[in-house]
Formats: sequence, structure tokens, C-alpha cells
Amino acid sequence: MATILDGSWVRDRILTELKPRVQSLAATQRPPGLAVVLIGDDPGSQIYVRNKVKACADLGVYSEKLTPPASISTAELLSLIGELNQRPEIDGILVQMPLPKHIDSRRVLEAVDATKDADGFHPTNVGHLVANRPASRACTPAGIMEMLARFEIPIAGREAVVIGRSDIVGKPMAMMLLHAHATVTICHSKTADLPGVCRRADILVAAMGRAAFVTDEFIKPGAVVVDVGMNRLDRRDEVERIFRGDAAKLAVFDKRGSVLVGDVDPHAMAERSSAYTPVPGGVGPLTIAMLMANTVALAERHLRTD
Ligand code: NAP
Repeated sequence: MATILDGSWVRDRILTELKPRVQSLAATQRPPGLAVVLIGDDPGSQIYVRNKVKACADLGVYSEKLTPPASISTAELLSLIGELNQRPEIDGILVQMPLPKHIDSRRVLEAVDATKDADGFHPTNVGHLVANRPASRACTPAGIMEMLARFEIPIAGREAVVIGRSDIVGKPMAMMLLHAHATVTICHSKTADLPGVCRRADILVAAMGRAAFVTDEFIKPGAVVVDVGMNRLDRRDEVERIFRGDAAKLAVFDKRGSVLVGDVDPHAMAERSSAYTPVPGGVGPLTIAMLMANTVALAERHLRTD
């Protein structure tokens, strides 16, 4: 039987460990502070931001949600970020992506002071990651590293294959696995013989955004499989096919009109792996926990040097 890598358990442990650090800062100086900038009315972004603000409240982190109108210009947004950069009680700044099309996202990400970058996306912090120096790390891959460590999954000397080369998941994931001494291969849409490359993996990370794309033939028996994908299925026949008629999933679909599936075929993952992250409940819960970890670490750094 494969081990289920339970993300909620890891999240709770991370948050429990952060709590005394937050309490100590609050008691001696001030609580850590996070500013979240949300622009537009994307329903997904609104849910993410609500969850981030709630996580702050639960942990005792001060948070501020800024919701400028969708018509805001790049210059106005840069000025808003400039103000947040100057405010001493704000340790972390997060600009919820995606931004409206007329805004230059790259300039916005670069405008956040690197020492207040809660997401780890600023080029300076990407450089720190490459150089393996302490700094904010991209939350989703950092959470996956925490998960692998806490389930005592060995990494050094093993073959790791990452499917996906995005700036927020694939690339930083590969770099973190490299720093943990895995032999790392990064795959993407132009990779030749994707199943064959993936079958080499002792640790396979799928971050491609393709529902149940990774099937039996991609997974070496006994591999550890980390499924980052979050894909919404809104067709009943798809749910029936992918979940092999699983009555519980169909009941969820009938109630909600959709269900989530990862990038890995859930049946193949459970059958062939030695350990895997379920969707939902695997990687998902870790991202916000690592956002909290980045924010607390930034506050500790700011307050040490204030
Ligand atoms: P992204 O920016 O769209 O990148 C997808 C990557 O997958 C690209 O590098 C792309 O290759 C590659 N890819 C797409 N189709 C492929 C194929 N058929 N064969 C091989 N490679 C393929 O996506 P992302 O932001 O990294 O997110 C990936 C998934 O993770 C999404 O489902 C997203 O919702 C999920 N996610 C989950 C969390 C969480 O907290 N659980 C956080 C972030 C993201 P090219 O570069 O060649 O186009």
C-alpha cells in the first residue's frame, strides 16, 4: 500500500512551529505584517486571498488587504507598492496573480522590495535560490520540500524528474531538489519521450496543469509521486472515466458540479507509487503555510536589523 502524503498534517505542523515565533515577536516588538494586493474580481484569486488573510489571523500575523480598482494603471500600482515598501510594520508584500492584462506584471513583481517579497518571485530572491542562500522561497515547491523532509523521503543521490518549467513551480522545484542532491531532469511540452524520461524518476513531480495526464507508463513502480496539478473537471463522463466510476467522487460532482483532479491519473498513482500526494489534500494546503513561513522569516530579519 502506498503512503499517502497528507498535506494538511504537514501544514498543521508547520503552522504549529511558527506560532511561538510569531508570539515571541508580538510580545517583544510587534507581530509580523503581510500586505496582500488583490486587483480585479477573479473568483479563484478572491478565494486564495481570503484564505491567506484567514491564515494570518489564525496565526496572529497582522494582515492588510488592498483592493485597488481593476482600472488601476501600472504606474499607480507601482506607487502603491512603493508606499508598502516604506511602511515599517509591513514585512511581506504579496501581489495576487494574475493581474489584469493592461498591467505590466513583471515590473510590478520587481517593484516589491526584495526584502519584503513574501512569494519568493523577485529576481533577487530567485538568484538567492540558485545560489542556495537564505531568502524567501517560492511557496509551493518550498512546501513540497517540507513535505518530503517530514515524511523522511530520501532525496540525495536519487533521480528526480519535474514536469513543468514555470517560474512559480517547475524551475524553483528543480533547483530545490538539486540543492538536496537529487539528480534532476526538467521536462516540458517539447520533451521527447516524456513517459520514458519520467519512468527514470525515483521522485516524480508533475506540475503541468493537464488533468490526469500522467498515467501508468510514466511511473516507475515504487516511485514517490508529487502531484501539483489542480484541474477542475466539469464533465460527468470525464469524472467517471478518470475516477473509474468512484461513487464518492461522482457524489461530490453531483453536489458541486465539478471535482478537482491533479496532473496524475489518481488510480495509477495509488497503484504504482510507494508514496503520493492526493488531490485535493496533498500539495494544496502547503502553499499558504509556506507563505506564512516566508512572512515570519522576513519579520524576524527586519526586526533583528531595525
Ligand atoms: P504553467 O505556468 O502553465 O506551466 C505548465 C508547465 O507544464 C509548462 O512548463 C509546460 O511546458 C508544461 N506542460 C504543459 N503541457 C505539457 C505536456 N503535454 N507535456 C509536458 N509538459 C507540459 O503552470 P504552473 O503555474 O506551473 O502550474 C502547474 C499546475 O500546478 C497547474 O495545474 C496549477 O493549477 C497547479 N498549481 C498548484 C499549486 C498548489 O498550491 N497546489 C500552486 C501552483 C500551481 P512549456 O513550458 O513547454 O509550455
